[in-house]
Amino acid sequence: MSPKQLETHYDAVIVGAGAAGLSAALGLLRSEAYEAMRAEGREPDILVVSKLQPLRSHTGSAEGGIAASLGNIEHDDWHWHLYDTIKGGDWLVDQDMAAILAEEAPRTVIGLEHDGVAFSRNEDGTIAQRLFGGHTARFGEQPVHRTAYAADRIGHQILHSLWQQCVKERVRFAEEWYVSDLVVTRGDSGAAKVRGLVVLDTHSGKVHGIHADNVVLATGGAGRLFHTTSNSWDLTGDGMALALEAGLQLEDIEFVQFHPTGLAHTGILLSEAARGEGGRLLNADGEHFMDRYAPGHGDLAARDVVSRSIMAEVDAGRGVADPKDPDGPKDCVWLDLRALGRDTLKSKLPEVYETVRQYAGLDPAEDLVPIKPTAHYTMGGIPIGADGNVYEFSDGARHGVDGLFAAGECSCVSVHGANRLGANSLLDACLFGTRTGRSLAARIAESRDVDEDAYQTVDEAATRREHAIKALLAGAPQDAADTGDADAGADNAYRLMADLGALMERAAAVRCSHDTLTEAQAAIERDLLPRAERLTAHSDTAAFNQEVTAIMEVRHLLVVAQTMLSAADARHESRGALFRTDYPSRDDGRFLAHSMVGKSQEVLWQPVTITDYPPKARAY
Ligand SMILES: Cc1cc2nc3c(=O)[nH]c(=O)nc-3n(C[C@H](O)[C@H](O)[C@H](O)COP(=O)(O)OP(=O)(O)OC[C@H]3O[C@@H](n4cnc5c(N)ncnc54)[C@H](O)[C@@H]3O)c2cc1C
Repeated sequence: MSPKQLETHYDAVIVGAGAAGLSAALGLLRSEAYEAMRAEGREPDILVVSKLQPLRSHTGSAEGGIAASLGNIEHDDWHWHLYDTIKGGDWLVDQDMAAILAEEAPRTVIGLEHDGVAFSRNEDGTIAQRLFGGHTARFGEQPVHRTAYAADRIGHQILHSLWQQCVKERVRFAEEWYVSDLVVTRGDSGAAKVRGLVVLDTHSGKVHGIHADNVVLATGGAGRLFHTTSNSWDLTGDGMALALEAGLQLEDIEFVQFHPTGLAHTGILLSEAARGEGGRLLNADGEHFMDRYAPGHGDLAARDVVSRSIMAEVDAGRGVADPKDPDGPKDCVWLDLRALGRDTLKSKLPEVYETVRQYAGLDPAEDLVPIKPTAHYTMGGIPIGADGNVYEFSDGARHGVDGLFAAGECSCVSVHGANRLGANSLLDACLFGTRTGRSLAARIAESRDVDEDAYQTVDEAATRREHAIKALLAGAPQDAADTGDADAGADNAYRLMADLGALMERAAAVRCSHDTLTEAQAAIERDLLPRAERLTAHSDTAAFNQEVTAIMEVRHLLVVAQTMLSAADARHESRGALFRTDYPSRDDGRFLAHSMVGKSQEVLWQPVTITDYPPKARAY
């Protein structure tokens, strides 16, 4: 979109064009409230802003599938899905929200089918479903085929289908525009209200203030907090940081899911199927160590159990170095796929086979493959209710933020608790994204008055951002601009991001303790934050200067990292994906509660909603 086409006022702006953002846009346009407005001759102004071209959103990387109790292979029941979701989340799940997720899942998947998702099919033409870890029949009795899939490309299918529907509906996109500020004001009572956004058009380098009565944050996760991650480069926690910078809180942000088999050096996911088909994990001594940690389950124990066991081997000095960096740290273990043979690898694990060959330069039929746990999913995020409305928590109560919504991985509706069940996150993004769009439409229909004066704060924020970006560009060392040498200046955003990733990996990946968390917090305050403040660009060109957005991204990561460390330190227990070596047991008496933390780092505790299923001890 060219700046000329940009209006300064929108009824709603959706930030993010992955499954959540696109679902919100479609939910809005297809709602009864929107139809009624159209019938009255009123056409609300809606804009979707994305820092990437929409089809590059991380949603497109999802392989496995999307969960719903369709019962196409065998009998299934949404109550069983609900139970599995709660149990998988180690009882930190709000059960009323998870009930919505499980009950509305079949309708959501059928809706995706109607939108064009080319699901794999059964012989009888119904949507095919596969087994997935943690999905069971009859409340944990036996595995059930619940995950609808499209070969190993479900995310690609969903992203393309939703985007095409948006194009058909003539949704306006501002592509490769970076949202740098969320503007929220407070009335005399302290109640928060959204006023709009500040955006950087990366094509031209121009900054714009956008006045909006309603904003949806659908910016995805924050996997880039860790050096080893399955997440794409854009997942820098922007929406979470925007909320924090606007004075709001994050919920349960200490819970990050690690997948045990990330390809070393890259973090790229090697599917669980590799172990399902017979791959074995070995330490430096060639020992098949999982038998020691999880007798009876071995390599196929729960993801967090396998990840912790790998880290324990590394900590005990039985790790191996990545063959690409033989003198580097011995922080990997081997995945041994050799016994499967080339034919089986090619026919049953083609993605794994090709990924190892292309990205590690190894032949899995003959070589051991170095792997380490990889940061995969952010369970916590911006706190929302069932219709996507963002709230703050104080004095023991929820207070809504007028006009602000969130959806998808950046949000926390509390359906994943302390550990997400596989195939539940695409479902969360599509289902709660659609609900958000509908409630947005109802709100737009109700409000017609535009309070022009209130938008002054947006213009002021835009002016501040414009000056800040000019300062970043003006700080570019002249010789660097001439030579294009990114190292001519002392420091840069990419180096800082790598240092933060390494620090977070040491302090908080898979396991942590008070000491590791507080040391990392101190290092951020002492070293990384001052470095982030000093960063400047290395070229003074405003157009397409990716370093400018990288500087804002690393600053966002730092803000989120601080809250993650604070919340993890305040939780004196181990639950789901969070393992505290100094508090190894779950403590329902004190911590069956959601952490709520803002930029002040004060951690408050919000009760968990338990309706039908009281907590049980965890069985591995
Ligand atoms: C490798 C991999 C495999 C996975 N497999 C599965 C699976 O099989 N099943 C499953 O259920 N889940 C899976 N997941 C998780 C799931 O894919 C994600 O949780 C989900 O797709 C997130 O969707 P989203 O819309 O919230 O975010 P995303 O798809 O990440 O989209 C984020 C959007 O926000 C925009 N954005 C971000 N910051 C800004 C900013 N500052 N300004 C403007 N725009 C911004 C981006 O441009 C992008 O459009 C997988 C994840 C990964 C990484």
